[in-house]
Amino acid sequence: MSEAQQNGSQMPGGAGAAKGGSGPEEKLHDVVVIGSGPAGWTAGLYAARANLEPLLITGDDYGGQVSITYEVENYPGFPEGLSGPDLVEKFKAQAERFGCTVSYDHVSEIVVDEHPFTVRTAQSKEYKTKSLILCTGARPRFLEVPGEQEYTGKGVSYCATCDGFFFRGKELVVVGGGDSALEEGLFLTKFATNVRIIHRRDELRASKILQDRAFAHDKIDFVWNTVVTSISGNENGVVSGVTTQDTLNGSQSHIDTDGVFVYIGHIPNNELYHGKLDLDEDGHLIADPMTRTNIPGVFAAGEIADKVFKQVATSVGQGCAAAMQAEKFLASLEAVGLPDLNEDPRAWPVPGVPERAPELMAAD
Ligand SMILES: Cc1cc2nc3c(=O)[nH]c(=O)nc-3n(C[C@H](O)[C@H](O)[C@H](O)COP(=O)(O)OP(=O)(O)OC[C@H]3O[C@@H](n4cnc5c(N)ncnc54)[C@H](O)[C@@H]3O)c2cc1C
Repeated sequence: MSEAQQNGSQMPGGAGAAKGGSGPEEKLHDVVVIGSGPAGWTAGLYAARANLEPLLITGDDYGGQVSITYEVENYPGFPEGLSGPDLVEKFKAQAERFGCTVSYDHVSEIVVDEHPFTVRTAQSKEYKTKSLILCTGARPRFLEVPGEQEYTGKGVSYCATCDGFFFRGKELVVVGGGDSALEEGLFLTKFATNVRIIHRRDELRASKILQDRAFAHDKIDFVWNTVVTSISGNENGVVSGVTTQDTLNGSQSHIDTDGVFVYIGHIPNNELYHGKLDLDEDGHLIADPMTRTNIPGVFAAGEIADKVFKQVATSVGQGCAAAMQAEKFLASLEAVGLPDLNEDPRAWPVPGVPERAPELMAAD
């Protein structure tokens, strides 16, 4: 559960909050954005500024992963840094300012094999839309041990790129044995004096080249056949150690540490897309660099389609690109009519059609 949810702020009302009861809506939307993380708000902002009157459906996890981020220091424009929830409120205010309507609801089903597309929600609403921007993000797999939630942002982290900087001169543990655990462990050696990688087996899943680099690194050592069973803190309320258990003989140990970086998996929020849109082997939506999925008019942005960069700044950029592509798609739709949904989506938006529909250009 996100901090925003714990604070009861997942259902805030706002100037642009969607109103109305359940059931199908008469309005045909130009753009519906699903998700209220950085990608979703940015898509909503750009679509709103293009006069497309987007509807953004927040999902149960209002604000997305950034709302469980204690402090964001690497998002440009905020030299002092700011809290994740504050950043979400700024994203929202900016999108609403230009007319993005926000619905505090969760999408239960999408229909994308007929146009216009249909979006159904947990509150029994049904929306028709000419284009869809999917920004349902991902979530880190949690250890689910005592202390993990309590010390998230206070020594427990799921993102070395985001938080490594705070651990200069500290001793760290990394939990996991795949590529991410090793990549991030190697990255953390730039800051930490020692990085101890705790893995539940006696061999790694990570690629050979990463293994070679990690084994050769003088700041990295391994704790094999071991799981973390709890995380403890000190009188300052920050992480001071982990309790571990040997998976072979069950014996318990304690490791002093200043930080715990957890890399035991990243789960894309893809429940809506199975059998409807192309997913890769890890469950991410397959989208090209233009944010197009395999269905013309359906775009994907942020961590639901990005397993490489996974940052606020990159998710924002992809949300921007998806809204610009949706705008182009709508202009193509007006110029040449309905797409064949089985057509290669790279043919859409149709080349040569102006980026903005003529009446929107006239309104500029
Ligand atoms: C603890 C932590 C700290 C981090 N710190 C930083 C940092 O300091 N700097 C940085 O750049 N990055 C940081 N990141 C990464 C950053 O938060 C993510 O890259 C970013 O939030 C991804 O944005 P997104 O919009 O793709 O998706 P997400 O933030 O994952 O948001 C997904 C959204 O989709 C919604 N959703 C899902 N399913 C549905 C559905 N069925 N119907 C409707 N809505 C749905 C959710 O409610 C949520 O609003 C951190 C991540 C974590 C977990």
